[in-house]
Amino acid sequence: MRNRRKTPPGITTRVRMVRQDAATREGLALPAPLPAISENGAGLLQISSWRERKTISNWLWHGFSTRLGGASRAYCAEDAPGELNLGFTAADDREAVIRNRRLLAEAVTGDPSIPLVTLRQFHSNLVVIAGAGDANRERSRKADGVITAEPGLLIAIQTADCIPVLVADRKRRVVAAFHAGWRGTVKRIVESGVGKMRLEFGSRPEDLIAAIGPGVGRCCYAIGEEVLSEFESQFRYGRELFREVFDSDPVRKKYPMLFLTQRAPGHSPIGPAMHLDLIEANRRQLLDAGLKALAISVTGGCTSCHTELFFSHRASQGHAGRMMSVIGIRG
Ligand SMILES: [Zn+2]
Repeated sequence: MRNRRKTPPGITTRVRMVRQDAATREGLALPAPLPAISENGAGLLQISSWRERKTISNWLWHGFSTRLGGASRAYCAEDAPGELNLGFTAADDREAVIRNRRLLAEAVTGDPSIPLVTLRQFHSNLVVIAGAGDANRERSRKADGVITAEPGLLIAIQTADCIPVLVADRKRRVVAAFHAGWRGTVKRIVESGVGKMRLEFGSRPEDLIAAIGPGVGRCCYAIGEEVLSEFESQFRYGRELFREVFDSDPVRKKYPMLFLTQRAPGHSPIGPAMHLDLIEANRRQLLDAGLKALAISVTGGCTSCHTELFFSHRASQGHAGRMMSVIGIRG
């Protein structure tokens, strides 16, 4: 599989939000990543250094799904090819999702029958330890993070805007996956998850590598005042994660005369709104947990901007499939 992204991982992670001046959505937009299409048609994003470095790829499986490939018909136009919805959503056919999950396992490991451990996610900071025996127990396994040291299985997080975070311990060969929406992030799911790796498996932060997958970007994630207060009360850097964003409408820009109003300048009906950078929030947690900046990679892309690539709960007003982020230890 080929991934043509040339930017070294780590470079794209240095998205610092220290300036508090207002921005536009376009100014904050993230470039779309380029998925690799596997032989069975599933479109995957992978961290190039994880895939190319033999000392990592010889024991580690990982991947972030896109909506490309698959057998689902629930979220696409009638004449479009099938899609890779991986969540048992109400709108989709269960058989199609089961087939898609096998396609994902095959795209990542080469074997469609590799057990897949999924969770019933509920925006908590609860992290569980799992093994192959936990496969197909999604309904009863309530948590938002999962860790395993058992080879031969994939652990998975499902998202459609929230941020998926994968972590691997290169020395002890332990892997983890976390689901971080704003609620889980404010409850420090990633920091506590790394804490659990240290406590239960003796992981040392300097041996950990992490990958932050596609989610809703700072360009699109408008939030209410209560979210800002929660972050400000929980993190010393809380305010740095937010920007005031004006929605610059391209039609208005091109034809300003059409939109002339009696309002005074500066009282435009468009914006500003407070936008949260959830990717940066989770990168900060990984740093606070002791990971080196260069050990943290970001796939890039905004689920809400790039709906041709990703399912987005926000962009589709709730009618969305789910993507899966998976990690595992080769069997
Ligand atoms: Zn966006």
